[in-house]
Amino acid sequence: MAGPLLLIDTHCHLDFDSYADDLPAVLARAAEAGVVAIVNPGTDLERSAAACDLAAAHAPIFAAVGIHPNSTADFSPEQVDAVRALAAREKVVAIGEIGLDYYRERSPKDVQRRAFEAQLALAGELGLPVIVHDRDAHDDLLALLETWVGGLNNGPLKARPGVLHSFSAPLHVAERALALGFYIGVTGPVTYKKADELRHVVARLPADRLLVETDGPFLAPPPSSG
Ligand SMILES: [Zn+2]
Repeated sequence: MAGPLLLIDTHCHLDFDSYADDLPAVLARAAEAGVVAIVNPGTDLERSAAACDLAAAHAPIFAAVGIHPNSTADFSPEQVDAVRALAAREKVVAIGEIGLDYYRERSPKDVQRRAFEAQLALAGELGLPVIVHDRDAHDDLLALLETWVGGLNNGPLKARPGVLHSFSAPLHVAERALALGFYIGVTGPVTYKKADELRHVVARLPADRLLVETDGPFLAPPPSSG
């Protein structure tokens, strides 16, 4: 039954400067490795537009549009309208990456929560899944996701509302997300020497609810880490 391995990298920031000089070579190597599609999430309005441009220019690239929690310091409701406009562009498959980052806290927590809620509401309105960034914010994040999913109409989005990207939390967090219908995104750190706990968590999750992500240009597995 062994056919060709077809992979989708559900999270790679191909719009970042790291790829400016050799994007065609990167895409060629990805294709050789069996990667048939790559989702490029935006991190702010400018980068979301850049992701849409790349998706328009390269067949395997798809875009997600949204404002990353670290970019929400100057958040305003008008920015949600701008995300809505970007979401109408071709090959936009998700709203993201959005979420909460209490580790870096580059934006006040209450502002992060407001931006996250507004973009969740937009995703519900558009029927698009969300790509969720969670850093040290599990409880607040799950509470907001539970409220959001609870308010969705029954349909494809409610059944599979999105992905917890680059998962690095305890098992009970994954279990609450799975119960909501979320996928769990697994990145390079699962290969790190010290990541026994993360490997243990991931091994207990259903394989059909795992997504593979590079999160390039970040989180490369050894020996390329850093
Ligand atoms: Zn990312």
